[in-house]
Amino acid sequence: MRDYYQILGLPPGATPEELKSAYRRLALKHHPDRNPGDRVAEEEFKQISEAYQVLSDPEKRHLYDLYGHAGLNGMDLGGFGGFDDVFGSFGEIFEDFFGFGRTRTRKNRPQPGADLRHQVDITLDDVVKGMEADLEIPRRAVCPACQGNGMAPGAKRRTCSRCGGRGQVAQSRGLLRVYATCPGCRGEGSFIASPCETCQGTGTVMERRRMQVRIPPGVDHGTRLRLRGEGERGRFGGPPGDLYLEVSLAPHPLFTRKGKDLHYRIHLSFVAAALGQEITVPTLNGQAPLTIPPGTQSGEVFRLPGEGVPDLRSRKPGDLVVEIQLKTPSILNEQQEELLREFLRLEGEAALPE
Ligand SMILES: [Zn+2]
Ligand SMILES: [Zn+2]
Repeated sequence: MRDYYQILGLPPGATPEELKSAYRRLALKHHPDRNPGDRVAEEEFKQISEAYQVLSDPEKRHLYDLYGHAGLNGMDLGGFGGFDDVFGSFGEIFEDFFGFGRTRTRKNRPQPGADLRHQVDITLDDVVKGMEADLEIPRRAVCPACQGNGMAPGAKRRTCSRCGGRGQVAQSRGLLRVYATCPGCRGEGSFIASPCETCQGTGTVMERRRMQVRIPPGVDHGTRLRLRGEGERGRFGGPPGDLYLEVSLAPHPLFTRKGKDLHYRIHLSFVAAALGQEITVPTLNGQAPLTIPPGTQSGEVFRLPGEGVPDLRSRKPGDLVVEIQLKTPSILNEQQEELLREFLRLEGEAALPE
């Protein structure tokens, strides 16, 4: 890294006036408007600007004189990514020097819009067919009264006296001097004397955006759908944020979902399980026959292929898994009891060794 004094062609003890006139002379010479398309001049201009920004700030110059570039480590030097940044930091100076008509007192850097999150309530039927969700999503929008600048009509921004317009204040922490964002202007260097009444000076208002979103079949509870660019709008040309939809699946009275399978538990008398029976089980689409073979045990499961819900990716449906739960009759009439006693007697005989 080049020495800041060298860049400006000055000795280390240069006065603020010498600094300013050297900067003015060099910035004019290398200014991009005078050297269109000249990469070398552009780089030179950035370095000149950075050198001037550091040396014209007494705190930063002090650190630089003591420790060189290392003394400025981690400090925001304005992030010279392009001319926009340079103008953002030096707006007032360039107005003085070049008579630019720009009134950029605020840092109008592109700011990306925030991501938004919204819950979508669905049912199992929606999982099978997919759905069109009608959503109303609250989000911040540019204030229509002030077009986002936060000022009442005709109002001006005032330079912050707490930080002298620098946006940063120095604080002593033991032997260290730490730079912090100025609390008086939140780092903007100026504040609005009379804020817009509609947005209280924030430049944004809440709006409810109506939109229709297609929820694909197969989503599950907790599935997050990302809608690129549908979040809050960016400011000053920044990209919009994303909208994340979080699926919330309502519990179903009959079925429990496990992945793409649906689980259903049916109670069957042990006699029906022993003899076998044709039964009907409910499905999401209606009902389906199921053959219970003789000798079915409690806890046995039977699968009805294709009666589950679709897989999110392949759209292939899962199964309906029917679990048999055997029920012992608790009330028997006389005849039933007699038959069961007879059954028990026969079973006991069959169990006897021959
Ligand atoms: Zn406003
Ligand atoms: Zn301030």
